[in-house]
Amino acid sequence: MLGTLFQNFCVMITLLTITMTLLPAQPAELSSRQRGLIVLCMCIIPVVLYAFGFELAAGLKIDLRYVPVALSTLWAGPLVGLLVATPLLLVRLLNFNAGSLPAVISMVMLILVASLLRRKFNLAQQSAALSWKKWPYVVLVFSLSGIGLLISPNGLSRLASIYLPLLLLNTAGLYVAAAVIRHRLVTVKTYHHALAQSRLDALTGLPNRRAFDRDLEQLSEGQVVMMLDIDHFKAVNDLYGHQQGDQVLRAVGDTLLGTLRQTDSAYRFGGEEFAVILRGVNEGAEALVGERLRQAVNRCKVGPELGLTVTVSVGLARHQARQGERSPLPADTLKRADQALYDAKAGGRNRVCVAAKEPAVR
Ligand code: GH3
Ligand code: MG
Ligand code: MG
Repeated sequence: MLGTLFQNFCVMITLLTITMTLLPAQPAELSSRQRGLIVLCMCIIPVVLYAFGFELAAGLKIDLRYVPVALSTLWAGPLVGLLVATPLLLVRLLNFNAGSLPAVISMVMLILVASLLRRKFNLAQQSAALSWKKWPYVVLVFSLSGIGLLISPNGLSRLASIYLPLLLLNTAGLYVAAAVIRHRLVTVKTYHHALAQSRLDALTGLPNRRAFDRDLEQLSEGQVVMMLDIDHFKAVNDLYGHQQGDQVLRAVGDTLLGTLRQTDSAYRFGGEEFAVILRGVNEGAEALVGERLRQAVNRCKVGPELGLTVTVSVGLARHQARQGERSPLPADTLKRADQALYDAKAGGRNRVCVAAKEPAVR
């Protein structure tokens, strides 16, 4: 019996793990198609668990079939619970025998009790965290399991023989199932958080160089790359200290975010250099956008007691193909924007330079 029940546990864990692979990188973004697929997988689990159950006596099987149904009810409500139980109930009714009706009654009672106790668990909101302190409620969820046996001949003694092992098995099963799901949810959430953090600059909160490099690779023709470099920034650090320097960097980042359109993106390129990708800017209008940013930075006063004025030099380049060339290289466009920035510095700083229309021959 123990061997069979252990197998039942293994089957449940395997099937739940497979089901959880359907979760997207961010569970909050679960589409209705993914939701449907997960419910479909959950529907199969009780049938398989029942098929691999242990036959305690003639027509009296013990297995974990109630666990996925209880879990679905606690997670998503009685309708989903009923949906998950339906294939198994159909199997039982189609192979109609003395045990079919008791099985249906037991399952319906389980869904009923689980839906009444749903609020005590809050599983969906707490990413399947099932505290050990909740054990009395878990026991309550399964307290009427097998109750349908009472309508069968010798029902009471049959129920008495199965009740305690079934209760223990289901209680342990629910904890294991919740732990499997929680593990997957936490892994997915942690992965997504780490991925998002790896693309953000810790100081300014802007996307970082890694994010810029990725977006640069996807640059489309007509988009504009802008490089901005704070003028004489070393002097800010030297005169006022690194903390004030950091404040300047944050202020410039905020100014870029506050001035750009939603479709454009700003990045901290590194040190006191920022990059911007402009999308949907008419030919010739990029210089105006650069000028607007330059003026916005120039207007912002950093540090309440400092009232420091910051200026930036700006270099711009439009991503466009050379004559006879099929598609431009993003790296070339970046190089041209960088050269334009160099020209702005050489021209006296606090100014905007646009790269020549025709990219230089490599
Ligand atoms: P230019 O006008 O030619 O750009 O001169 P600059 O002083 O701005 O340029 P330079 O490259 O000489 O100095 C850049 C300075 O930026 C030096 C470095 O200490 C500082 N810096 C880089 N990253 C950070 C940072 O995260 N925080 C602070 N406070 N300073 C930084
Ligand atoms: Mg620099
Ligand atoms: Mg600088």
